Amino acid sequence: MGATILDGKKVSQLVKEKVKKEVRELLEGGATPPGLAVALVGEDPASKIYVRKKGEACEEAGITSHQYNLPDTVTQEELLSLVRDLNGREDVNGILVQLPLPSHVDSKTVLEVVDPLKDVDGFHPYNVGKLVANDVNLLPCTPSGIMEILDHYRIPIEGADAVIIGRSDIVGKPMAIMLMHRHATITVCHSRTRNLAQVAAGADILVAALGKARLVTAEMVKEGAVVIDVGMNRVEGKLTGDVDFEAVSEKASHITPVPGGVGPMTVAMLLKNTLTAYRKQTGR
Ligand code: NAD
Repeated sequence: MGATILDGKKVSQLVKEKVKKEVRELLEGGATPPGLAVALVGEDPASKIYVRKKGEACEEAGITSHQYNLPDTVTQEELLSLVRDLNGREDVNGILVQLPLPSHVDSKTVLEVVDPLKDVDGFHPYNVGKLVANDVNLLPCTPSGIMEILDHYRIPIEGADAVIIGRSDIVGKPMAIMLMHRHATITVCHSRTRNLAQVAAGADILVAALGKARLVTAEMVKEGAVVIDVGMNRVEGKLTGDVDFEAVSEKASHITPVPGGVGPMTVAMLLKNTLTAYRKQTGR
């Protein structure tokens, strides 16, 4: 029997509609709209698409989008000065610096200058620490979007064996911590993991976030597992996940498709974070 599709597009729509409704109520109550500033450096085509999508989603939800397109010749000091300026602006509640940045700019330094209360990506060390301490401020969008999908479909997390393939700061690591806080037993795999297939096959919840097209095959998946595919790989121009969807969906109980799974959740959670940041800053 085929797996139940975890429809991230549908769940993201629900999150976005909730944000939109809350923003409308704020505006009706006389509040100024929340604002999200996005800084894009250079001409990377994928980044340009992401930034455009984020801007459109903001406008749709009633959040004012401020976009800053900087040339890839921008100096680190110029970028820092923009971020500091945005930190001080009352009409900007969320700040997002689109990654990757050009090699002459140190991403860590830039991310650390973002006011932690406006850090809607959840990448500032303060927010990373808050996440680890389970005293949450703003959570990284992709893993929190995955939690939202799991909860929407009432996937049992407590006591589950969860295997995360990938240990990046933006997906794998925060995903592991979020699942751990919800009482799953966590295993994090990476490029030097021995017996990846064997470890993955023990998972009740398997999160693939490694960025290698269709590397997760049916042999690596336990019968009845819940499979979350974070991968976004271009194969012959087609967006392809890290999971061999056709074969794995015959074995898994639930699976996210690519596209239409985790991807749309990331933007929805960004809007949710912007509203959370706005509420914290304004007390509304
Ligand atoms: P990354 O390159 O920073 O990290 C990849 C991780 O996978 C590393 O920890 C590495 O050790 C591990 N890895 C690589 N090859 C492996 C292998 N053969 N076996 C086991 N582990 C291996 O990637 P990232 O930024 O975490 O992104 C991962 C994927 O998720 C990419 O395809 C990216 O495009 C996608 N992504 C999607 C979204 C979304 O919104 N859907 C958001 C972020 C990232």
